[in-house]
Amino acid sequence: MSPRIRILPEILTNKIAAGEVVERPSSVVKELVENSLDAGSTDIVVEIEGGGKRLIRVSDDGCGMGREDALLALERHATSKISGENDLLGIATLGFRGEALPAIASVSRFSVATRERGRIEGTEIYAEGGKIREVKACGMAEGTVIAVRNLFFNTPARLKFLRSNETEGGHVGEFLTRLALSRPGIRFTYINDGRTVFRVHQGELADRVALLFGSNLAGGLYPVDSEEGGVRVSGLVAGPDASRSAASHLYTYVNGRFIRDKVVQHALLGAYRTVLERGRYPVVVLFIDLDPAEVDVNVHPTKHEVRFRDQGRVHDIIQGAVTVLLATTPWLRASRNPEAPAFSSPAAAATEERLAGVREALAAYRPASSRQQTLPVGARDSGLGNRRVGTGYGGPGLETRTAEPETRNPKLETRNEESVPAGYFSSLTVIGQFNSAYIICQEGCDLVLIDQHAAHERVAFEGLRNQYELEGVEAQGLLFPETIELSFPEAVAMRENHQAISRLGYETEEFGGTTWLVKAIPRLLAGSDHLRVLRDVLEDLEGLGKSRTFSEARDEILARIACHSVVRGSRALDAQEISALFGQMDKTDFSGSCPHGRPVSRKITLGEVERMFKRQ
Ligand code: ADP
Ligand code: MG
Repeated sequence: MSPRIRILPEILTNKIAAGEVVERPSSVVKELVENSLDAGSTDIVVEIEGGGKRLIRVSDDGCGMGREDALLALERHATSKISGENDLLGIATLGFRGEALPAIASVSRFSVATRERGRIEGTEIYAEGGKIREVKACGMAEGTVIAVRNLFFNTPARLKFLRSNETEGGHVGEFLTRLALSRPGIRFTYINDGRTVFRVHQGELADRVALLFGSNLAGGLYPVDSEEGGVRVSGLVAGPDASRSAASHLYTYVNGRFIRDKVVQHALLGAYRTVLERGRYPVVVLFIDLDPAEVDVNVHPTKHEVRFRDQGRVHDIIQGAVTVLLATTPWLRASRNPEAPAFSSPAAAATEERLAGVREALAAYRPASSRQQTLPVGARDSGLGNRRVGTGYGGPGLETRTAEPETRNPKLETRNEESVPAGYFSSLTVIGQFNSAYIICQEGCDLVLIDQHAAHERVAFEGLRNQYELEGVEAQGLLFPETIELSFPEAVAMRENHQAISRLGYETEEFGGTTWLVKAIPRLLAGSDHLRVLRDVLEDLEGLGKSRTFSEARDEILARIACHSVVRGSRALDAQEISALFGQMDKTDFSGSCPHGRPVSRKITLGEVERMFKRQ
């Protein structure tokens, strides 16, 4: 009986490897371009036709190959990049497995033309389905041109999996974008069906970001650059206006290699937690550079995953670097915007003047809210009359003046009020409230709109955070303890974080099975659906897994409680409530945005208003 186990022919093993390495045209482009980079190229041109199914051609000006090397390169596990096991621990090149070229060649009509630097002539090799058909000398510029035609022509099942030309071309573009961002020193050209999609020249990263993502990245770009314990974190982050609903614009790199890594993403989103709304993702181009021995890139052939030796440390360094940067950005700290007038140390007289302005506005504001009642009956009943109130030109039978507040003496209104603390928000002149949800103010010549719900939420959040740090969130005992039925993972989260949860103001006790007794709740949540919030908190904790501790999720959890503690929807605020809110906001850290990252205040400059009315 002949043996049943046999060594597979090489062409077959290459085809099997192709299944791993070559998934679609963009993966071919990736392998070829990475080889060009490893070869020291500075100018790389990628052309595709028919979504890369008909043709993929990558031309570079790298070191090229001699004839023998070029032939060897088409053999499996032939690589010039590592020679021994020890090299695996410190990989500095993009490729190292020596399987890309043979794999690609095995599933296409493949040609490589290459001329080594300093040699007079080049070599051209043509292979079909992995079989070398022709080897000849050729004249060409120094560098390498690899053309891959009819990808998967001999594996129809794989060909069927490819998507439309547009989709495949899009994948190629996305890959090249990632690469172009990480290599500002290299010229890239991407041509799709004869059309130049982009051509980036050598230059600054910011220029490249603008070129690839559009030059009006709202909110500006902020550079990060810090080093800690041998880990360098550098790059650019864009303002929150440019945020996306998916992680599509998180361009993260480890030692120059694009990665999608949970630890890195987690660290980044952690830094943004209180700046961006849940479900929003920042536009970030971030480079993490560290000793290659500290990171394992040999996790998966397509190599988007990495494994750090010390995940926790790298995580904290990344998060720290971005958090520090965010704290200096104007969109995080509106009141510390360097362009905004400085309110931190206004002269006493100026403060007095502003306070007087605030009082006057508040006095005017309160009666204004009862404007509807003071309108003459006719005005309320007639649509025409109502419209006229707003236009201010009045008319027979309708005096807009009647809608003016009766009391206009600020002293009468505010004499007994506590003095308003000096600070940015307190210094604003309140004009009124819009839709019972926004406070309209004037600051110098500009208009400032404040989202009162976001503001309340931020204030509540900071209050909770302070309490939590001091002796725990203020709790309120329940007259009758309530029971809550937990799922198994929720119960595990409850047990594992029991102390921290009680610090949040929830006093709980195991009742049997997965039922727990709730004996006290955060005082701020009295009257709201506190059990639902508890369940949400447990779900947050459950999602933590092992890589994240309670303290890392703390702000997210406090933001959740803050959010539920604030009365939702619109509500008319009176003058005192507004001034109390502003006073609290001035004492609040990071008052520029609510804990979910929605902006608290927006400014509309006089210039913008004038442009609106075509006065400029
Ligand atoms: P790897 O990149 O993992 O070494 P590949 O199969 O991608 O394996 O490439 C095999 C070898 O071919 C490389 O190690 C390199 O020496 C050579 N090579 C491939 N592409 C180029 C290129 N564009 N310029 C110069 N040498 C190249
Ligand atoms: Mg390679």
